[in-house]
Amino acid sequence: MSRFFSEKYAALTPYTPGEQPRERTYIKLNTNESPFPPSPIAQRMARQAAGNVNLYSDPACMALRKAAAARYKVDVDEVMFTNGSDDILNFAFMAFCDEKHPVVFPDITYGFYPVFAQLNRIPYETIPLKDDFTICAEDYVGIGKNIFIANPNAPTGIALPLRDIERIVASNPDNVVVIDEAYVDFGGESAVSLIHKYDNLLVTQTFSKSRSLAGARLGMGFGCKKLMQDLNTLRYSTNPYNINSVTMAAGVGALTDEDYFRFACDTVIQTRAWTNEQLKKLGFEILPSCTNFVFAKHPAVSGKELYLWLKEQGILVRHFDDERIADFNRITIGSKEEMKTLIETLEKMLCEK
Ligand code: PMP
Repeated sequence: MSRFFSEKYAALTPYTPGEQPRERTYIKLNTNESPFPPSPIAQRMARQAAGNVNLYSDPACMALRKAAAARYKVDVDEVMFTNGSDDILNFAFMAFCDEKHPVVFPDITYGFYPVFAQLNRIPYETIPLKDDFTICAEDYVGIGKNIFIANPNAPTGIALPLRDIERIVASNPDNVVVIDEAYVDFGGESAVSLIHKYDNLLVTQTFSKSRSLAGARLGMGFGCKKLMQDLNTLRYSTNPYNINSVTMAAGVGALTDEDYFRFACDTVIQTRAWTNEQLKKLGFEILPSCTNFVFAKHPAVSGKELYLWLKEQGILVRHFDDERIADFNRITIGSKEEMKTLIETLEKMLCEK
């Protein structure tokens, strides 16, 4: 830390992103990226846009908002775009939470929530997941605080039914409920349609997983017009050009290529079922996943040991040190070939045990 670093950030523990190694080639099953390239339409549109980056991008992101409005049956004023969904999550903490409006989220969830809370000096509480790692919806009903819930949750992969989400939103009318749907396209029930009914609901989604654009950085948020206005006040006060024009074009292409989107999601879902079956045969315990990853543990080997062993063999998965989940590893669903290699490698390891 330099002697110039502001005291207000001195105690901040930054988010630790998953490893992005450049020194050797791994089978990368650690950051929930798509195993497929972006849609050919998205790629073509991005290439065309690359020729015009001498000009600023459209700060209103109108082409993207129109494409999303048509795809998700919302008004153009009920959707907005950010630089990855991390960006809109941070804006939501900044816009709606403060000393007087504290925030709650599950104890086991996306690791960025406590970082955003700390960064913005927002008091927060965590609510323990049940022993089976599901969220107890009842715990959030009428809690009277702002709420962040990843649905499906990460790193567990478990989804809450939409009726539970609606109960939480309806019972906290004076607080904002943020539903982070980063993984919803792989089997969860989206709450987007509820934005017309509740003015306190913000739904966020990402193009990083189901739309194969993690490196392009594109996130989106749905909510009533006034919530969008508040978030845009912050977006325009930080970086109105937060979506570059190449990403914007790729995003429009991805949103219009519904066939490719369905193919990518369906293939991941099928490969997930196959992987689950194979892991179970090897003795793994796996939580029921509605995402593009599985959260698994084995009775014969610790989570850390398994993670390190796989890394040595050239396969990266994600391990978290948090005591409650230290036995587990989060394994992204890659291509069928990648998952076959994973299973063969695990077989070999468990044989040697
Ligand atoms: N929410 C959850 C639950 C996530 O796992 C991630 C990915 N790390 C994000 C949001 C953010 O994704 P991105 O910024 O790539 O849109």
